[in-house]
Amino acid sequence: MKQYEVVMGLEVHVELATQSKLFCSCSAKFGAAANEHVCPACAGMPGMPAVLNKRAVELGIAAALVTNSEITPVMTFDKKNYFYPDLPTGYQITQINAPICRNGRLEIETGAGKKTITLKQIHIEEDAGKLVHDARTGTTLVDFNRTSVPLIEIVSNPDFRTAEEVVAYLEKLRSLLSFAGVSDCKMQEGSMRCDVNISVREAGSGVLGTRTEIKNMNSLKAIAAAIAFEAQRHIDALETGRETLVQETRRWDDALGESFSMREKENATDYRYFPNPEILPVRLDGAWIEQIRSALPEPAREKFLRMTGELGLPEVDSRIITGSKNLSDIFDRTLASYGNPREVVNWIIVELLAIAKGDNKGEDDVSVDCVKFAKLIELVDGKTINRSVGKKILQKILQDGVDPEAYVAENNLGLVSDTGLIDRAVQTVLSENEKSAAEVRGGNEKAVGFLMGKLMKSLGGKADPKLVNERLRYWLTGGGL
Ligand SMILES: [Zn+2]
Repeated sequence: MKQYEVVMGLEVHVELATQSKLFCSCSAKFGAAANEHVCPACAGMPGMPAVLNKRAVELGIAAALVTNSEITPVMTFDKKNYFYPDLPTGYQITQINAPICRNGRLEIETGAGKKTITLKQIHIEEDAGKLVHDARTGTTLVDFNRTSVPLIEIVSNPDFRTAEEVVAYLEKLRSLLSFAGVSDCKMQEGSMRCDVNISVREAGSGVLGTRTEIKNMNSLKAIAAAIAFEAQRHIDALETGRETLVQETRRWDDALGESFSMREKENATDYRYFPNPEILPVRLDGAWIEQIRSALPEPAREKFLRMTGELGLPEVDSRIITGSKNLSDIFDRTLASYGNPREVVNWIIVELLAIAKGDNKGEDDVSVDCVKFAKLIELVDGKTINRSVGKKILQKILQDGVDPEAYVAENNLGLVSDTGLIDRAVQTVLSENEKSAAEVRGGNEKAVGFLMGKLMKSLGGKADPKLVNERLRYWLTGGGL
């Protein structure tokens, strides 16, 4: 049997984290009611001016910097003309002649080792609207909220050979861009989307096979599954000749685990690109670029090294925190209010993420008032309350936004550390549970847990378990007799 090689290139669309749209002042925020963020400009009314969003250009420059790209001295915008109901102007403003940057590169790491992926270019463009198919009335509705939201498209060269490389690259891009503040890169909300161009050739051949493009994938898992399916479809076609491969765009159906033809792939000439005369060329001068470079936040890799080095935190915990920009921000803000990194990391990973998981939230969606969170950790760390009371208060902070100190005072939750009170509780529990006490004395350690449970309950769950255990053992060994 012949040996085949899969060749892939990626086009990744990333929504820029601006407040407003690319050419008007409408909000770019995700999740509003349909057509709430629309004005005559982004609704495509004739004669409306397009005013370029400076912040979008700055974020584009930041993306160029973190991907080691060559920034274009003077960039321009072009019109890409096509008709589709979600595109009210009849053209998309994008960059084809002088995009913001070219020739980037970034290093990925897979089981097979390190590899450099090269980028053809990154360009800035506007997003299209969204069509909503209404099954009830059998009609299609259009929502223009997303129309003209700023995007960058990151176009790689066909450097990928395996799905593992593709996933590693997307994770690297997500980390670089989210930590640089370019985008929140949430695949599930569509702020990071990926199209894969894929072809298959005989191993060793210098000629590329027929290329298909797979669209509509919203998770890394779906992307890996789509690549595996599509590569096999190409190989089967080459081997059996039963299917003729054509250059086309295909849709991935994650539920069925299959790709389907959407349309034949257009060529650049189909779009009649031409320079947009309304937007003047933009000079990206060195001083501006340096200003953006010096203001770039700490990348995940540097933060990881600082956490494991200077802060002395375990690698596994540091990897979890720096795996998400959101968790990393929570860590920084909490640490700013209470300077015990080990406890802060511990509470984020063990308690906060457990609650988030229970609410079906991921690492990127969990949120907490970091000042209150820090105060709570301090109360537990300083033994004002015990940890199990602390966990309950964390729930209250997340649900009702309670102030931990006030809540402890109002509900009398302070740690019981009065030895006299604990001793009396121990005596009562021992006299009521003589059998268990005798078992412990006879060497049955399991019975200690039973007695501890009774004791903690009788002390309202507020005592310091370490101290209670100490007093219990003191009385069990007859210390008090
Ligand atoms: Zn608008």
